Amino acid sequence: VAKGRGRATFAFFEPAVATTAYDKLMLEGELGHAIIHDEFALLFQPQVRACDGHPVGVEALIRWQHPQRGLLAPNEFIALAEQHRLIVPIGAWVLREAARQARLWHDAGWPLTVAVNLSTLQFQAPDFVASIQSLLAETGLPAGWLELELTERMLMDDVPQVCARLQQLRALGVKLSVDDFGTGYSSLSHLKELPIDTMKIDRSFVQELPHQRESAAIASAIVQLARGLGLSVVAEGVETEAQRAFLVGQGCDHLQGMIISAPLTVPQMQRWLHAQPALVPSPGT
Ligand code: C2E
Ligand code: MG
Ligand code: MG
Ligand code: MG
Repeated sequence: VAKGRGRATFAFFEPAVATTAYDKLMLEGELGHAIIHDEFALLFQPQVRACDGHPVGVEALIRWQHPQRGLLAPNEFIALAEQHRLIVPIGAWVLREAARQARLWHDAGWPLTVAVNLSTLQFQAPDFVASIQSLLAETGLPAGWLELELTERMLMDDVPQVCARLQQLRALGVKLSVDDFGTGYSSLSHLKELPIDTMKIDRSFVQELPHQRESAAIASAIVQLARGLGLSVVAEGVETEAQRAFLVGQGCDHLQGMIISAPLTVPQMQRWLHAQPALVPSPGT
């Protein structure tokens, strides 16, 4: 189905990168070389404590600096990378780069958690836990400062097996979060059993706060659920003061979104950190 969609009739209307079958084939080939050509980059979006705006972490978000097509967002190539299993080496690159950068920030006195998005194939790879363990050893990043973002779909796939894997990651000291919470199909009884630290309220609910009654009900229910399960909760895609006020009022722990900051390059992040009034650098932590 997806292949047929790439043909001429749709090419006109879809701004997507790969508009024709030929184009898509080209992009696949280029994706395979993008790592060795050093074309991927990470942006980092700050996460702050909701009550006082204190920076607590960043989410690493991948970009592809394509030599001809320009800067590509994940929705333009991650699905393709997943189809061709290229997401495994790309994901390993992301993890390494994110951990390396977090370690540098630590050394500079900015103890920020770094959250990394995972794909199913990556998480299911037999050597995934071992690869995280050696990554931590190599970069010297304390495990508690690495957070892995999983989706509900990944968690509910094969619960006993997923649970075992999460326990192993937990044993390393790594933090685990559920991304885009509320959009998938989590079973609450399974959720109760999984060793999760954080829930991220999906942007689609946050966007409609505070006036859309159903989204407000869902957002506050997620905060309550997280509370009750002893998890922390992050709202993503926070754009307005009214959204922020609502979430703070509900007791949401952390905020991420344009009202705090767009995703930033490393130098931009450095400037953003220095501009935070409440923050005192503490070397050696
Ligand atoms: P996500 O993990 O839910 O990441 C949040 C997305 O929301 C990011 O889009 C971010 O730029 C965007 N965003 C942040 N604040 C706001 C806001 O206030 N308003 C709006 N409208 N958007 C906001 P981005 O960077 O395009 O990433 C899209 C998705 O691609 C991510 O969604 C994640 O699922 C995936 N992704 C990103 N990086 C990676 C990666 O390294 N590996 C994998 N497997 N997936 C990734
Ligand atoms: Mg995410
Ligand atoms: Mg998300
Ligand atoms: Mg999302």
